Order: sequence, then structure tokens, then C-alpha cells
Amino acid sequence: MEKLKAGGETSAYCTSCKDMRHHVVVAMSGDVPAKVECLSCHKQHKFKAGPPGSKVAKPAGAKAPRAKGARPAAHSIPAVSGPNPLDTILQTRGTGSARSYSPAERYAVGELLAHPSFGIGAVTATPSPGKMSVLFRDTTRLLLHERVPVVVAPAVKLSPPPRREESPTGPAERPPKVKPLL
Ligand SMILES: [Zn+2]
Repeated sequence: MEKLKAGGETSAYCTSCKDMRHHVVVAMSGDVPAKVECLSCHKQHKFKAGPPGSKVAKPAGAKAPRAKGARPAAHSIPAVSGPNPLDTILQTRGTGSARSYSPAERYAVGELLAHPSFGIGAVTATPSPGKMSVLFRDTTRLLLHERVPVVVAPAVKLSPPPRREESPTGPAERPPKVKPLL
């Protein structure tokens, strides 16, 4: 739509001709003509977009009732003020680079991860070894990462005390699950 300015032409209601006429814009008021001159009768008058009594640009059927299933206003929707910070990150990064979250993996600040419960998150900080702050859509959570699986378990845990009382028939002297220590 062409922007109107003083000197331009626009269709308007002429108060003298009592009809829609082409007018020259004499003065603007913001983005709308304030004063126009009729090209038919050459009278200047206030700009009127349409005949008096008619509501201009009223869409047909505006009063038609909405669909019956219209949801009640914002009852279940949490109030969100402004754009979600995570969305801002995702807009620039996209979700393609998100790795599936696993506590054994190592994540760096700025990385995206996909958590099975919390969804997409962005690593915002690693406050201490093995821990990281992850920004999710609803909140920031502290998650574990870089958890190296324990390969060499302490010997104590490998030898539970044999329970002689409860194995009347088996060889109680040899607990079956203990691996020999090399
Ligand atoms: Zn006129």
C-alpha cells in the first residue's frame, strides 16, 4: 500500500458531493490525511474515509460467533514475559547440534543437549568438575556430566561378607559373585 503524503491522491468521501470522490491530500496528520481537496468540486474539507454513518472497513461477519471449542483465555498457559532465553539461543543455533544427554559425556559451555525428561537445553556454565548448569525452557537445572564410569572399583565393595546362615546347602565359603583380584 502506497504511503500517503500531502499532494498525493486518495479516495475519500466528499462532504459537498455527498459521494466518494478522488481527493488531493492537502495536509497529513500522522499517517492519515487530515485535510483533502475534492477533485470534482475543488472544495477543501476534513478527510473522511467513507460516507457518514458507515463503519469503514468492517469485515463481513465480524459478529459471527467463534468456534464453540474456543479455549478459555490463558487459564492453563503459564504467563511468559518476553521471549524465552532458550528460544533466543535456539533461534541462532538450531536444534540440530543438540546431543543426547548422558551423564558420562562431557559437555562444554554453549553446547546444546537433549534431555529425555527436560527437553532441549543449553549448557550455560560448568560451576565445578562434573557439574553443569543447563538452561531449559522452564528453568535452569544443575546436571551431572563427565561422570567417568568407575572401572576399578574399591576392593571392599567386591567382597560382601558371606552369609553362612542363609545358605544351608551351597558352598558358603565361596561367595559366587566375587571375582578373583589380580
Ligand atoms: Zn466534491
